[in-house]
Amino acid sequence: MRSEEQSEAALATAIADIGAGQALVLPDNLTVKELADLVRVSPVDVIKELIKNGIMATINQVIDFDTAAIVASDLGYEVREATGGTEEVAEEEPQTREQVRSYLAEVDGAPLQDRSPVVTVMGHVDHGKTSILDSIRSANVTAAEAGGITQHIGAYQVDLDGRTITFIDTPGHEAFTTMRARGAMATDVAILVVAADDGVMPQTREALSHARAAGVPIVVAVNKMDLEDANPDRVKQQLSELGLIPEEWGGDTPFVPVSAKTADGIKDLLENIAVQAEVLELKANPDRPAVGVVLEAELDTMRGPKATLLVQTGTLRTGDSAIVGDTWGRIRAMFDQNGQRVDSARPSVPVAVLGVNEVPNAGDIVSVVQSEREARAHAEARQRVNELEADKAQRPVSLDTLFGEMSSGKVKELNIIVRTDVQGTMEAVKQALEGLSNDEVKVKIIHAATGNVSESDVMLATASNGIVVGFNAKVEGGAKRQADVTGVEIRTYRVIYELIEDVEKAMTGMLEPIYADVVEGHAEVRQVFKARRGSIAGCLVMDGTINRTSLCRVTRGGEVLHQSRIESLRRFKDDVREVTAGLECGISVDGFNDFAEGDAIEAYRSERQR
Ligand code: GDP
Repeated sequence: MRSEEQSEAALATAIADIGAGQALVLPDNLTVKELADLVRVSPVDVIKELIKNGIMATINQVIDFDTAAIVASDLGYEVREATGGTEEVAEEEPQTREQVRSYLAEVDGAPLQDRSPVVTVMGHVDHGKTSILDSIRSANVTAAEAGGITQHIGAYQVDLDGRTITFIDTPGHEAFTTMRARGAMATDVAILVVAADDGVMPQTREALSHARAAGVPIVVAVNKMDLEDANPDRVKQQLSELGLIPEEWGGDTPFVPVSAKTADGIKDLLENIAVQAEVLELKANPDRPAVGVVLEAELDTMRGPKATLLVQTGTLRTGDSAIVGDTWGRIRAMFDQNGQRVDSARPSVPVAVLGVNEVPNAGDIVSVVQSEREARAHAEARQRVNELEADKAQRPVSLDTLFGEMSSGKVKELNIIVRTDVQGTMEAVKQALEGLSNDEVKVKIIHAATGNVSESDVMLATASNGIVVGFNAKVEGGAKRQADVTGVEIRTYRVIYELIEDVEKAMTGMLEPIYADVVEGHAEVRQVFKARRGSIAGCLVMDGTINRTSLCRVTRGGEVLHQSRIESLRRFKDDVREVTAGLECGISVDGFNDFAEGDAIEAYRSERQR
């Protein structure tokens, strides 16, 4: 047998072997939507999985078994074909076979190789995140190699007795969750830095919630141990109360005392990360087109868009064409962390690349495809996916839609981020909400804190498909804007009972919509005419528009005299639909005849808020 035939035979056997176990049965062809239903995730998540694998599809697009199998296996399913004909698969187009091969590579594990862990450093401000990153870097990085100067490219790798660890250079949970909200998951292990003299602070808790929501294992670095008032036991105690139990107390979280200043304990920290990584058995297939994520990007005035990519699986090479988020490019040159030109980058390796057409966003997914033409076409398809995501039907969960999504089996968990004014109410709200869990849906508080609703809360909600509730809490401007963009629901309450009742009603499909007034325009009464059926106000529209269908309030000296709706709206003798600012018109208001010169008419409409 020729070696090619041999591998074909092996492929066929392997596919048949998969069929032997308990597996998800997929037909030859199915739509993205059908696959989503089968694997019980939203179509958007299937589309995202497809993108990660370099395949662009829309919701109603038909995809073949091989493609569906890749997605299903990425989502943890074992897959089998519905009709026999496994040999047929082996006889299909080479490109498809390639897909099956890479799918098999992921499933049977044979060509998978170890990859190094990718680590993000999180913690409260000033607890020493940057100092720890600097300390690790200066002590371990293979920097001065061949006269190379250490470059800041957004991530770096260190060597630990022959093993490698990749650190993401932007500390903090905001960057981490922003990426996650974009569907990228770059981090394998989180280091939670807590200053031993300061103990657990608000952002420590926040970072913990973010890491937990992402399901990332945590190593605690108890920093500033060189200080006299360092109190590591207090840190252990405080984090234990939050459910992070030190190994030496019988839990499973390593707590490593360090000093970024003296570098004491840094090696120990690295060893603990390596141990965590071993448990995770991180693997990737370097023999496939690269898939990765953008860590950071900027416009280099001399060389055009420059982006740091972290390869997650496959190998990235110069000359590769890739889809990069909404844009695309052909990799013109790549540089490692020492500023040296490289030609390829394997899994978990960060590289700065030139050749992407526009500056991408941190968290954008990168996937290498066959040709530039394909990359461009896919980038365009990706833009359509974005439109799809922006579509209301694909919006994140909200109390209003919860019941429907529960009923169709799409939502099994309601993730809530809680903000309250004081600690006492926070606990009360948390317990009351969690107590609402029933068989259909589990109410899960993924983060609770005192203070205002922040942008970071909204990002966490986006990344976890959750909602934000504020109890006697203000919504920061940034959070409001972020919520408008992402569609995340923020609800604020002043009475705990109302909050609990709303969530309860949402879970049983009984939530009544709430309406709010949206002002459309103002008119000032300049003259009053008596007509047979009542009085008509001759008005000048001061701002906005007055619509014949508007609701309205008549006010005098700031006091509301009457509230009803516009009865008739005329310009000269004609009935009109609307009158805009600067124009005169005649208005009569339902049930009101006492107009006086100088009165104001405010036109508004009632808009459904939830
Ligand atoms: P970040 O905001 O968490 O990134 O914190 P930085 O790394 O900027 O550190 C905040 C301050 O703490 C700086 O003044 C550092 O010099 C100091 N610092 C960081 N680590 C240590 C440490 O291990 N010991 C001492 N004494 N000071 C530290």
